[in-house]
Amino acid sequence: MLYNTLTQAIGNTPLVHIPFSKYAAIYAKLEYLNPGGSIKDRSALYMIEQAEKNGSLQPNGTIIDASSGNHGIAVAMIGAQRGYKVIICVSDKISKEKQDTLRAYGAQLMVCPSTLFLEDPQSYHSKAMQLHKEIPGSIMLNQYFNTQNRDAHYHSLGAEIWRQTGGKITHFFAGAGTGGTISGAGLYLKEKNPAIQIMAVDSVHSWYSTQGNPKPYKLEGLGIDFNSPVLMRSTIDHVLPVTDEESISMLKQLAQQYGILVGPSSGAVAAAVAAYENQLPDNAFAVMIFGDSGRAYLTKDFYQ
Ligand code: PMP
Repeated sequence: MLYNTLTQAIGNTPLVHIPFSKYAAIYAKLEYLNPGGSIKDRSALYMIEQAEKNGSLQPNGTIIDASSGNHGIAVAMIGAQRGYKVIICVSDKISKEKQDTLRAYGAQLMVCPSTLFLEDPQSYHSKAMQLHKEIPGSIMLNQYFNTQNRDAHYHSLGAEIWRQTGGKITHFFAGAGTGGTISGAGLYLKEKNPAIQIMAVDSVHSWYSTQGNPKPYKLEGLGIDFNSPVLMRSTIDHVLPVTDEESISMLKQLAQQYGILVGPSSGAVAAAVAAYENQLPDNAFAVMIFGDSGRAYLTKDFYQ
């Protein structure tokens, strides 16, 4: 393939069969093969292009956002390529590799304390809102509250999976953080075939799965930590809560038995699929999202 710009290389990631089941077809969508290394390239590109089109983002402008890492990395990559200044607020929970990657793309990084609630005034989201107010002419993409995040996955990921599976998909499994991936791609697939089961994977300790009494958890990138307007509960058939332990144990299995080195959200999704596998009908065609690479977490010792 020849591309004129880097962002044209976002998407069209491969779907690879993973032999988790004797009967059902289970495929992993390798989103870590996007140029910025994660699924968030798709939504960051869409949101930046909407801001360019509506004029809120001007040449040489400043983009601010809060991120658990990958969205920020995608914004920093696109910002570097298009000449925008980028400021990303993250929590101190995210891996050193993600923080270093953000700096390597030239983004300014604000590391904030981990909080149990996104609305906490100390949180990375609150810090990004404050910076946006203080810096004249800046825009905040606001991935946690901007429903364009969901629209991005409707147009990009949802349509792509439908095309790649030739409409044969029966079950869609993805981690939910902002909820953009599961809701956007899920809505596209449901509109094509309402029988497709949309399965959101969450941390057992998140705000959502504890009914408002969250506890800290190690998984990063996924976990429904607030009442997200991006998450469309009506599109989702089941929310599957997973533990840190089962997700991390699955990470090692994926790397050492299947040759797939992915990050904790992918471990969580694969653990949820493995636990659900005996409920899949024999003719099921399941797609699971592997959102980023394990190389971004090697200092966390998940793989030892
Ligand atoms: N997996 C990874 C690796 C991610 O970075 C994210 C987003 N932070 C998710 C899953 C969850 O995606 P979404 O925000 O669209 O729910």
